Amino acid sequence: MVSMKELMSTAYKNHFAIPAVNVENADMLEGVISGAARVRAPVIIQLTEPAAEAFGAGYAAYLAKYFAAKFDVPVGLHLDHASNEEIIMDCAAAGFTSVMLDFSECELSEIIKKSRQIMAKLKGMDIAIEAEIGLIGSMQSETVKTDIEDARFLCGEVGCDMLAPSVGNVHGLSTKSARLDFDLLRALHSELGLPIVLHGSSGTVEKDLELAVDLGVTKVNFETEYRRIFQKTLMETLVLPPKIMKPREVLGVLRKEVSDRTEEKCRILRCCNKADLFRHNAQ
Ligand SMILES: [Zn+2]
Repeated sequence: MVSMKELMSTAYKNHFAIPAVNVENADMLEGVISGAARVRAPVIIQLTEPAAEAFGAGYAAYLAKYFAAKFDVPVGLHLDHASNEEIIMDCAAAGFTSVMLDFSECELSEIIKKSRQIMAKLKGMDIAIEAEIGLIGSMQSETVKTDIEDARFLCGEVGCDMLAPSVGNVHGLSTKSARLDFDLLRALHSELGLPIVLHGSSGTVEKDLELAVDLGVTKVNFETEYRRIFQKTLMETLVLPPKIMKPREVLGVLRKEVSDRTEEKCRILRCCNKADLFRHNAQ
């Protein structure tokens, strides 16, 4: 695995972004890493707090390290949308390389206070911090676009390594229909000069993701469409004639679909053949 600080700073300097895929089981995790490996790309495995609890932080870290070594590509391991100190510390101790602190529903002063408390506990560990400012909405919750002054203040106060803004992206969309606010993205890029993370990218128009790579975006999160792959693949495969019913074959189809989709993401985000930039760090 590779330090997330290294992944982000190298992507930032070299103008590419890395797909960060939410996984919920070993087959999805393997599929993501093998897909990146086919195009020699770095990749990020991430888990939500409930997924990290169900999976087990240590098991997730073991699998990420195992498949990073097996496929010989740089892999980061990230805890997504985290606010529970116990889960964060478990993941940090297990070897996760970054965490997103999500206190976005709090007032700015409270976000800063809570972030500092967690970061003090993580001091001395090689774990990068992703901060959210503004509210990245979903079908069920409101969206508040990032205020650039608030973003500047937050970054200055907590010293995060990457920022997740709300720039038109929306969580959980079932079609690629969200458009990014490029004026805001451009302003954040030029004012803050640090790696930007795009959430909700399953629902963002692909052309917008391609353009965002030129504006400081280095980590692009995908969850919803991978969930759909999981559901669709299993539903379609399980009704095939019984000769294909062996679990390893059914899950093999899932791994292949996940792998293909990840390869496609690497092409869109221009991180193919960038793995060797990190070889000196590979463990
Ligand atoms: Zn998110």
